Amino acid sequence: MDQKYERLLENLKRLKLAYIRNNLDEVLKFSRMRELSNVEFLTELIEKEIKERNDNNISKAIVKANFPFIKRIKDFDFSFQRSISKKKIINLKDCRWIEDHINLCFLGPCGIGKTHLGVALSLEAIEKGYTVYCSTMDELIRKFYLSLATGDFNKQLQKLLKNDIIFLDELGYLPMEESAANQIFQIVSKAYERKSIILTSNKSFDKWGQIFRDPAIASAILDRLLHHSEIFVLSGNSFRVKDIRGKIKNFKDNKKSN
Ligand code: ADP
Ligand code: MG
Repeated sequence: MDQKYERLLENLKRLKLAYIRNNLDEVLKFSRMRELSNVEFLTELIEKEIKERNDNNISKAIVKANFPFIKRIKDFDFSFQRSISKKKIINLKDCRWIEDHINLCFLGPCGIGKTHLGVALSLEAIEKGYTVYCSTMDELIRKFYLSLATGDFNKQLQKLLKNDIIFLDELGYLPMEESAANQIFQIVSKAYERKSIILTSNKSFDKWGQIFRDPAIASAILDRLLHHSEIFVLSGNSFRVKDIRGKIKNFKDNKKSN
């Protein structure tokens, strides 16, 4: 029996059935207790293995996506951010926009939830099996700048374009060098009608000529980005400031009551 048990463990390892291998004793005990038929037992077991594998893949994809934080749609307070339609965001959860290679642009001042919504919709996509890479513009430009020096810019670009969603966060905080503007143009034109881009920016489209320091390249980028896109213009006060105001108020209220 022991030998057979060892062989079973070995074979489960060889087949990479980690859930069954790691939970074998418990699984066998439960099946005896619940008096399952062979088919019921196998069905349940395989489903658990699939679920575990799926959960692991999702966790790995979230790490690979390089998000600045993890926030969900349920964490977003739509009553605070009234300039955006909750229904429109909820509708995007079905991920049809990714199949249709539609880009999402979130525009507006700092701290009002642009990155939050981008991350939340990306997480919905990852849970449905899509892949995402998120980077601030600044970080991406620096990475690509280094790759120009080492001669593997194309390799880096291809790697980025393997993702279903390319999430370009914080366009417009820093002005760009000419080579950086060209790199962004290459990303956007190669992704055009093949991938989806999520982009956040604190600058309206009419200011993009200044960001890219070249109106022609800005208009070429905008042309491709906006052809199939959903644009969300957010306004209002920073959520971070609201949080800080709330904390100050609580502090003052506590002081009064003491
Ligand atoms: P932006 O990208 O527009 O500068 P963020 O998305 O980074 O802003 O938001 C700043 C912080 O405030 C994040 O922690 C985010 O989760 C939170 N936040 C912003 N707007 C909301 C909101 N309407 N409901 C809940 N949290 C919000
Ligand atoms: Mg942001």
